[in-house]
Amino acid sequence: MTDDADVIIIGGGMVGATLAGLLARDGIAVTVVESQPAPHMDAQAPLDLRVSSVNIANAELFKRIGAWEHMTNVRVCPFRRLRVWDQGGGETRFDARETGHDWFGWFVENSVIQAGLYQALADLPGVRWLAPETPERISSDGDAVTVRLASGTTLRGGLLVGADGARSMVREHAGIAVHHTDYDQRALIINVATELPQQDETWQRFTPDGPQAFLPLTGNRASLVWYGPPESIRILESLDDDMLAQEIVDTFPEDLGGITAVLGRASFPIRRQHAACYTASRLALVGDAAHAIHPLVGQGLNLGLQGVETLAEVITAAHGSGRDPGTAAVLADYERRHRARALTMMVATDAFHRLFTREPGMLTRIGNGVLRLANKAPTGRKQVMRHAMGLPLWG
Ligand SMILES: Cc1cc2nc3c(=O)[nH]c(=O)nc-3n(C[C@H](O)[C@H](O)[C@H](O)COP(=O)(O)OP(=O)(O)OC[C@H]3O[C@@H](n4cnc5c(N)ncnc54)[C@H](O)[C@@H]3O)c2cc1C
Repeated sequence: MTDDADVIIIGGGMVGATLAGLLARDGIAVTVVESQPAPHMDAQAPLDLRVSSVNIANAELFKRIGAWEHMTNVRVCPFRRLRVWDQGGGETRFDARETGHDWFGWFVENSVIQAGLYQALADLPGVRWLAPETPERISSDGDAVTVRLASGTTLRGGLLVGADGARSMVREHAGIAVHHTDYDQRALIINVATELPQQDETWQRFTPDGPQAFLPLTGNRASLVWYGPPESIRILESLDDDMLAQEIVDTFPEDLGGITAVLGRASFPIRRQHAACYTASRLALVGDAAHAIHPLVGQGLNLGLQGVETLAEVITAAHGSGRDPGTAAVLADYERRHRARALTMMVATDAFHRLFTREPGMLTRIGNGVLRLANKAPTGRKQVMRHAMGLPLWG
């Protein structure tokens, strides 16, 4: 059996599903191939360990495809204040209200984002969701791309999009090289119940071993992110819940208050990777398949969403004017616009990491000065905040 679609997306994660929604809204037929079973909303489910910061621009994007309401119906935690400091006395604080907005954004569990997107796609005509399913063979004859699936179904489409994450098989199939940088760090993510009630502030303290971050969740719950050298993180992981809770209270800033329970934990290696190019004949890479950045500034999902917004724009414009969206000329526009943005973000996150972590002397002192300056500078503060919210710098 052969099924035709305008666009075939491999990977129905947060980035691939958003692209499917944007394209379907514009009347483009999309087939999504996802290896995991379809996600479902369950407000009673335990907290997901993966949490993302969703800024105002991301929420607007989710609203456009009808997904945001599904997410807010389950649970999202708004935050309006942001604080960053280090152990050398540098500190900066931001409050969204300085920009005339109530909130910087929301912390949302990845499972809630994914289920919200899936529910929204179910209401959009023109989306086919095949799961659990994986591609077995991909080929291209110049006019179309053909994907044979493990179930035996064959798909044909004008464009194949790899939204299949950092270990992308689509990228590998296309022979696109990827540059890796290992930060020699792991992040231990710990969901906790706190003595303090729900917070509207997120904070991050830099230490020479790596940052410690607090992401508020709904109720008296929070997600803690503890970065450190792999060997230190492994030792922490080996502790039982009571010992880990004590270690957190002893090591994290006092602002955290007491912990009444450790609810879950998992650790992830921290590395940056960048595909040598994002496009090939009838093929485009999006999200972590194209670029994965250090999560310390919480911008990985945001960058992926900016990319799919750009790709959807160029596909829709080509489709609307009768041009073939899979051609090199159309895809080059996506690559040119998004690559510059991704490179800027990579350089910025790298600089942030190096300024505050493990770089003795000069760089740390500069980082310290940057924090003090950011706190006092009368101009530029609003622009930094608007950038974090995903808004135009002036407005
Ligand atoms: C510790 C940590 C903390 C982070 N915190 C933040 C944060 O606070 N804010 C933020 O913006 N970003 C954060 N990020 C980054 C963010 O999670 C990623 O950038 C984002 O998940 C990328 O989404 P994606 O859809 O591109 O990839 P993924 O989320 O990896 O999704 C890929 C999808 O493809 C599917 N798939 C894979 N292979 C196949 C296949 N062969 N066939 C079919 N389907 C396949 C997978 O099942 C999955 O659903 C963090 C990352 C880490 C590691």
